[in-house]
Amino acid sequence: MTGGLFYVFGWMVISVAGEVFDNHAVLGAGVGLAFLVLAMLRVWPRQPALDATRPQLERWLDRQWGVVLATAALWGGVLSWTLLDRHLAPAMPAALLCTVAFATAFAHNFSLRLERALLGVALVYLPAPLLLPHTDAGLAVTATVGVYAIYLALVLVRSHRDYQRQLDLYDALRHQRDQYERLSRIDPLTGLANRRHHGGTLDHLGREAQRLRQPLSMLVMDLDHFKRVNDELGHDAGDACLARFADRMREIFTEPGAHLSRLGGEEFGVLLPGLDAVAAAAAAERMRASLETQPLQLREGPLAITVSIGVATYLPSQGGSLGDLFRAADRAMYQAKADGRNRVCVDGA
Ligand code: GH3
Ligand code: MG
Ligand code: MG
Repeated sequence: MTGGLFYVFGWMVISVAGEVFDNHAVLGAGVGLAFLVLAMLRVWPRQPALDATRPQLERWLDRQWGVVLATAALWGGVLSWTLLDRHLAPAMPAALLCTVAFATAFAHNFSLRLERALLGVALVYLPAPLLLPHTDAGLAVTATVGVYAIYLALVLVRSHRDYQRQLDLYDALRHQRDQYERLSRIDPLTGLANRRHHGGTLDHLGREAQRLRQPLSMLVMDLDHFKRVNDELGHDAGDACLARFADRMREIFTEPGAHLSRLGGEEFGVLLPGLDAVAAAAAAERMRASLETQPLQLREGPLAITVSIGVATYLPSQGGSLGDLFRAADRAMYQAKADGRNRVCVDGA
């Protein structure tokens, strides 16, 4: 808006100095009104919120550019008129000063899109060096205005490069921040949530369970005799085994809202909001049976490995404690180990 209002002001100065309203009242008022409308169109409609979709933002930006370029073209017209109409000669110094100011501001503020900015500066400024030779301005003024055009082009290109560099830097920082944020939540080997993220999700889902008065189940799964995989096939195969196990988890636990994590080493967790102990035990059994019947595929060949799973459920209606859920599931997993491994144990059953 403020940028647009300067053009209104510029036109007022020219029309007063050149006594435009004495000779061309309607045209003069029309030009003033056009500048005013264009100034208002810069702030209305408002810029979409930052979470708007990309097409929405681009449409708004294109419209802004349309308004800015129309303003530039209108100023170019006003300048041409001032230079060509001898009645407006007293307004020429003011018109030239405004033109230099507008073109300079344009080159500094709108340089992000180089082609459009060049067009805008050309529309505002070029009538000056092109038409001045046909006026009484004299060689000194004409030459100065011509040289200034070169300066404007240089400013525009440099300002464009600075903007671009700042944007690149901003992009790189944002990318880095996203990566750190991801690393703090995700286990890089399996792509599952890490233990910290699991804890946060457990708190969140626990509160939701209390609010909705729905059960929340948790599984703790520990691979059986995993150390042997490392010992017999090597650490890399052990890693691959963990990654394939995580893939299998993603295949099996497709319940809505299921949250999968690697709690550490060869121990994994699953949060199953809305599932009671019976449903959670059935899901755990699907995982156990899947591993038993379909070995994990490693580069070295199929790997027969089993898993022990503990199941615990938090029931808000029975006033259970959320803090105990993790411990109870862990306890049940150790019970499964003690009972001979490759089995599902439900806490309290
Ligand atoms: P159990 O049936 O009692 O669970 O026996 P286990 O061998 O699975 O359990 P134990 O706790 O004795 O051994 C776990 C092994 O997991 C030891 C450790 O070297 C290995 N391990 C932990 N994290 C990783 C990992 O990221 N990659 C690999 N390759 N091995 C890991
Ligand atoms: Mg183990
Ligand atoms: Mg373990």
